[in-house]
Amino acid sequence: MRYISTRDNTIQYSASQAITQGLARDGGLLTPCYIPKLPGKAMEDLKDMAYQQRAVYIMKMFLEEFSVKELTEFANTAYGPDKFDSPAVAPVRTVDGNTHCLELWHGPTCAFKDMALQMLPHLLTASLAKTEESREVCVLVATSGDTGKGALEGFKNVARTRILVFYPKDGVSEVQELQMVTQEGTNVGVCAVVGNFDDAQTGVKKLFADKQVCQMLERKGYFFSSANSINWGRVLPQLVYYISAYCDLIRDEKITPGQTVNVCVPTGNFGNILAAYYAREMGLPIDQLICASNRNSVLTDFIRGGIYDRNRTFYNTMSPSMDILISSNLERLLLALTQDPAEVRSYMEQLNATGRYELKERTREKLQKRFKGYCCDDSETQRTIRAMFDKHGYLIDTHTAVAFSALEQYRRETGDDTPAIVASTASPFKFCASVLEALGEPNAASGLDALDQLTAKTGLPAPTPLAALRDKKVRFTQVVEKEHMADAVMSLLE
Ligand SMILES: *Cc1c(COP(=O)(O)O)cnc(C)c1O
Repeated sequence: MRYISTRDNTIQYSASQAITQGLARDGGLLTPCYIPKLPGKAMEDLKDMAYQQRAVYIMKMFLEEFSVKELTEFANTAYGPDKFDSPAVAPVRTVDGNTHCLELWHGPTCAFKDMALQMLPHLLTASLAKTEESREVCVLVATSGDTGKGALEGFKNVARTRILVFYPKDGVSEVQELQMVTQEGTNVGVCAVVGNFDDAQTGVKKLFADKQVCQMLERKGYFFSSANSINWGRVLPQLVYYISAYCDLIRDEKITPGQTVNVCVPTGNFGNILAAYYAREMGLPIDQLICASNRNSVLTDFIRGGIYDRNRTFYNTMSPSMDILISSNLERLLLALTQDPAEVRSYMEQLNATGRYELKERTREKLQKRFKGYCCDDSETQRTIRAMFDKHGYLIDTHTAVAFSALEQYRRETGDDTPAIVASTASPFKFCASVLEALGEPNAASGLDALDQLTAKTGLPAPTPLAALRDKKVRFTQVVEKEHMADAVMSLLE
């Protein structure tokens, strides 16, 4: 399997090169040159396998250079019982007859980023060996919350890697900050940046391009890499859980083999829903992909009108991991729809120059045939949390609630009640204040006391990794101005 740039198919890499490199030389995203088809008997084979084995089976189709033995070791470590609090890893909970919730937050940081970030470090270190890279990796992350902690847990104590996370001092929740500053591991560093997420993100991008910093790194035997969802090693592990969910539904006789389903995903950077699209390309019988957005509805408008326009107000919402105006992974979908890197390059050039592009009619029609876009604001998000809890006794977080609202709108508008799989992306205990308010408790306690309050309200226990934060020591207290992030890199690499 060769990997090509979304903007130029003459640039070709092996899987291990694509994973080591992250981004193509021309700024495009490295993407498989075709999507392999699941063999006819795949579902039969996969149905009775554990999640870890399913992951090996599916990832192997994209990673010829990796042996089954290798991948089995990775999957067992990444998705083992010491990491995930459910033996199913990504269990499916049926909410009503034709609505099934795929819970992706049973990992160490209680958000769906774990599904990929527990696997990526294994793929990356093995890729270093395969490409005969002698330097060690220094992974830099700017985070608005979930990615930073997910990457820290994934890379903690992984040989030949260092991981440094920058977060905006006043831009993450108390629980999220505590999760990061108490991080354990010998190869990790965490630093707060004065400013907002954009300041941290821009600072990290500058570090990647800073010749002096890169030379210093080189002298110490490191090179920079990224754990952002532009890396193919982050998208691939996400295909697994859609196929796995479908197998579970067959196994549990909720659907019949071959039956069509719809998939609904709360979307930010477009990585998660893209994985569902690829699973469909592999042959999974998915009909509609429902793309759910919060008040930052750039994707809803794009799907409905065929015009991507980031020139708009940015809103901070109660589903912060979806507060995003540029969805990087959309570029991979554009290649899949057009099969034409030149067309993709032209859209990306327009996006860079003007913040906007308009799809050709043929491409727009293809997009609209497969994708439906819906969005909702914070009050609808909270209404959905409340309704789900009252009606089904099922507690969902703010991001997942956006998806349930989108599905409800889709069904009302189209009358299509095809069985749906809804991706649930975070534990409600990560967003206690908003969830409590939705349930009629506007005065949430501060810090970890809100966990107890949500338990008292719902009778549900807080996930162990969050409850355990109480006993963790704060290890990182460094705060820097955004101009001084290079100094933080130096001191953290000492
Ligand atoms: C990252 C994240 C999302 C958005 O996923 P994308 O792959 O970026 O579209 C949604 N919900 C939660 C809780 C997240 O952490």
